[in-house]
Amino acid sequence: MGVSIRIAHLYPDMLNLYGDRGNIIVLSERIKARGFEVTTDRITMGKSFRTDDYDILFIGGGQDFEQDVLLDDLKRGKDIEISKAIENGTSMLAICGGYQMLGKYYKTYDGKMLEYMGALDFYTEGKEERMIGNYAFKTKEGIEVVGFENHSGRTYLGKGVEPLGKMIKGYGNNGEDGTEGVRYKNTFGTYSHGPVLPKNPKLADLIISKALENNHPNIRLTPLDDALELKAQQQVMKLYIK
Ligand code: GLN
Repeated sequence: MGVSIRIAHLYPDMLNLYGDRGNIIVLSERIKARGFEVTTDRITMGKSFRTDDYDILFIGGGQDFEQDVLLDDLKRGKDIEISKAIENGTSMLAICGGYQMLGKYYKTYDGKMLEYMGALDFYTEGKEERMIGNYAFKTKEGIEVVGFENHSGRTYLGKGVEPLGKMIKGYGNNGEDGTEGVRYKNTFGTYSHGPVLPKNPKLADLIISKALENNHPNIRLTPLDDALELKAQQQVMKLYIK
C-alpha cells in the first residue's frame, strides 16, 4: 500500500499571518516529491476533528483579537484532540499565536487573560513593545532556521518542555533567555512567520519524517534538490543575520 499523509490545517481562515499557509504548501509539495499521497483538511471554527485521522497538524499565527475569538471554539473539543495529538507524538507545527495557544495562558499587553489548553508547560505574557524583525535560531539537530517574528507575547518555558532552538539573532521566546519556540515529542512551536518552511527545507523534512516514523517507520525520506531554498536562506542570513 502506498504512503498517504493526512494534514489537518486548524483555523486556516483565522490564523494565517504573513503567509503561514505557505507552510502547508511546502509540506504538501515535499511529500508529493517523494511519491507519496497527501491530503489537507481545513478545520475551521465550528468543525470538529479527530486527531487519529491525521498525521500532521498545523496551526498558524494571528492577532490578539482572533486568538480571543477562537477561544470558545477551541474549548468545544479541539483542545482535547490537540492535547491528545501532542501526547501521542503526532507531528505538529504551530506558529506564533497558534504556538501560544498550546500553552497555559496568554495575558495580552492590555490585561486580557486568555486561558489556553495547557497542553504544554509554558505561558505567555504580552508587553506593549512588540518584538519585530528577521531572526535566526539553531535546533538541537544543528539546523539553522531563519524567519521573521512580530509578537507582543513573551513566552516562558517550564521544565516539562525543551526550546525548539537557541537564538542566533533576534528575540525568540522572550528576548531574555536566548531560547526560541518549543519542542515536545513531535510538536514544534515557533514564533517564525514568513512562512518558515520555504526557506528552511531541513525543518520541513524533520516534521515530515516525524510523521512518517509514526505510521511508516521503515520509510526514509529521499533527499531533494534544495539548492534554491538554501540560496534563499543564505541570502536572508547574509542580509539580516550574520
Ligand atoms: N497576538 C500574538 C502576539 O502578539 C501573536 C502574534 C502573531 O501570531 N504574530 O504575541
